[in-house]
Amino acid sequence: MKIAFIGLGNMGGPMARNLLKAGHALTVFDVVQRNVDAMVALGAVAAGSAKHAAAEGELVITMLPSSPHVKSVYLGEDGVLAGARSGIPLIDSSTIDPHSAREVAAAAHTHGNPMADAPVSGGTGGAEAGTLTFMVGADPALFEFIRPILAQMGKNIVHCGGTGTGQVAKICNNMLLGISMIGVAEAMNLGASLGIEPKILAGIINTSSGRCWSSDTYNPYPGVTDNAPAARGYTGGFGTDLMLKDLGLATDAAKQAKQSVAMGAMAQQLYQLWSAQGAGGQDFSSIINLLKKPS
Ligand code: NAD
Repeated sequence: MKIAFIGLGNMGGPMARNLLKAGHALTVFDVVQRNVDAMVALGAVAAGSAKHAAAEGELVITMLPSSPHVKSVYLGEDGVLAGARSGIPLIDSSTIDPHSAREVAAAAHTHGNPMADAPVSGGTGGAEAGTLTFMVGADPALFEFIRPILAQMGKNIVHCGGTGTGQVAKICNNMLLGISMIGVAEAMNLGASLGIEPKILAGIINTSSGRCWSSDTYNPYPGVTDNAPAARGYTGGFGTDLMLKDLGLATDAAKQAKQSVAMGAMAQQLYQLWSAQGAGGQDFSSIINLLKKPS
């Protein structure tokens, strides 16, 4: 298939590489030239704008930083809708707020292009390995059409419902993750301060009712989980600023829906504080150090 791929960063780069490996013909665009050059070296064709890339595609995929980027790449003068032929399906895999996802999809629909929101989880490792989870908001016919393509970049392709529901699933999960990490960090700090060996405490939690992914797979206390970021000075993994971005999307969406998210808002403020102290680039589990009592 001829695919236009726009946004070749940490996630989009490896996702596009997997599509090339699967035998698709890619036309690519990114505002950073070296990202484009790296894909051209692997056999992709460079386009001078999102509009030109889209004009070459039988399918368009975008992987961009945030909502303003997605709006300008789709709706701008040199954007996807200005170039895509009517009927060509569009997939946005960026993590953005559900409201913007629905707004862009409505504009695409008016232009004659069916559009899906398909944000991912699995991080850069999952993007490299082609094992991402895609949370897809689309009508059923579009979902069936794009499922085999997404399966070449991921292993878990989930239809969440109509337009925007992929983004809803993504931000709800990440809000819970942000909260649960803080909860585990508090419990581990309290246990250590009260004199229990952290590994023993984690073992109890992980076979008891406090168990969760933040405690058993990604424990924030150093020395508890061998290959978690806590074991390597909180490098790699999922950055504090990326978690902060997703919590901001969740709290903004909650405001629009008039739904209270007291714990999500508290978590957002704690990661904000941690980021302001210079930890934005550290893995988000490093929040345990914000909560630790001074020694
Ligand atoms: P990134 O910043 O590495 O990549 C984004 C790319 O988009 C960059 O190459 C940038 O140059 C390009 N870009 C920006 N504006 C553009 C424009 N107007 N036209 C064309 N290209 C443009 O970000 P990433 O880590 O690849 O993340 C992409 C999305 O995936 C984000 O929404 C992020 O929240 C989400 N996400 C990231 C991770 C992760 O672990 N990195 C995990 C899950 C989801």
